[in-house]
Amino acid sequence: MIRQFLLYLSAAKWARGLVTRWGVARTVSMRFIAGETVEDALTASKQLNDQGLLVSLDYLGESVESAADTEQVVSTYRRLIDLIQQRGLKAGVSLKLTHLGLDISEDLCVLNLRTILADAKARAIPVTIDMESTAYTEKTLQIFRTMRHEYDFDNVGTVIQAYLFRTADDMKALAGEGATIRLCKGAYLEPPTLAFPEKADVDKNYVDVMRDYLAAPPPAFLQIATHDENIIQTAEEIVRTAHIQNRTEFQMLYGIRSSRQLELAAAGFPVRVYVPFGEAWYPYFMRRLAERPANLWFFARSFFRR
Ligand SMILES: Cc1cc2nc3c(=O)[nH]c(=O)nc-3n(C[C@H](O)[C@H](O)[C@H](O)COP(=O)(O)OP(=O)(O)OC[C@H]3O[C@@H](n4cnc5c(N)ncnc54)[C@H](O)[C@@H]3O)c2cc1C
Repeated sequence: MIRQFLLYLSAAKWARGLVTRWGVARTVSMRFIAGETVEDALTASKQLNDQGLLVSLDYLGESVESAADTEQVVSTYRRLIDLIQQRGLKAGVSLKLTHLGLDISEDLCVLNLRTILADAKARAIPVTIDMESTAYTEKTLQIFRTMRHEYDFDNVGTVIQAYLFRTADDMKALAGEGATIRLCKGAYLEPPTLAFPEKADVDKNYVDVMRDYLAAPPPAFLQIATHDENIIQTAEEIVRTAHIQNRTEFQMLYGIRSSRQLELAAAGFPVRVYVPFGEAWYPYFMRRLAERPANLWFFARSFFRR
């Protein structure tokens, strides 16, 4: 119930205004966000790299409503990509298609994406297209495939969500295509006609599709994006036994299970941290609260500490 309510709030415009004006919310959100500027994001990336962790930088934002707004998004990503190279950071970028204008026009979104991918490819920087709600699943996969097969971008990956019924079929097809896939559980409010309502079923589906994808021949590459200890341990065992450390990596979110990230890296597994930054932190932050309502205690603590 709490999860569903928080996910509802994450998409509600009235709630965004209310929460973002509240200083405590901003302070608490900074636990999950590297800061508001490109410089903040690069500083956090350097610190993570120095600890042996890879990074994927996400310029926060989604569902932009004007073409002019997408110009600023593209120029921020281009600057970021340039600075990643200049500073020799071990970092890629993650982006959302609705941040690049998918709700305005598919052509605009594709043009913006191609501009970013071309810059990144020239610098050998990986780009991941995040997966949003099911309103965008089919379109996201279609655009991802167009980028790989039609425009020849070999530096692009996308995300598959284990909570969707369609996932086993999608993963099978993507394994055959040799795609780079980040597998996560899924962070949006979805109806029981499209997604497993029970967490136990999501977890089982995650492990099943992960196992199959890890058995796929190269160049299929799996990014195991979870903080779930049972799944991490199962993955560790499969990867170790099959000696496929070079065809997979663990991924976790900035500020969540940081010591486990370091432990995995010390054990020889590639680990990438998803580092969000920017001013549009509200929906991202609310989804993190929904995943672990216990995080609401941070609010209470920060409120009473004032
Ligand atoms: C690198 C990365 C990229 C992602 N990209 C996408 C995407 O493109 N699209 C999408 O829909 N979702 C994305 N997600 C989010 C994902 O779908 C889940 O919502 C999120 O990862 C929580 O699921 P979990 O696998 O960690 O398992 P859970 O069962 O939710 O959590 C397992 C344990 O992890 C810890 N934990 C999990 N979440 C939190 C939190 N917020 N705060 C504190 N502790 C926590 C807790 O100890 C919890 O018991 C991404 C996640 C990661 C790690």
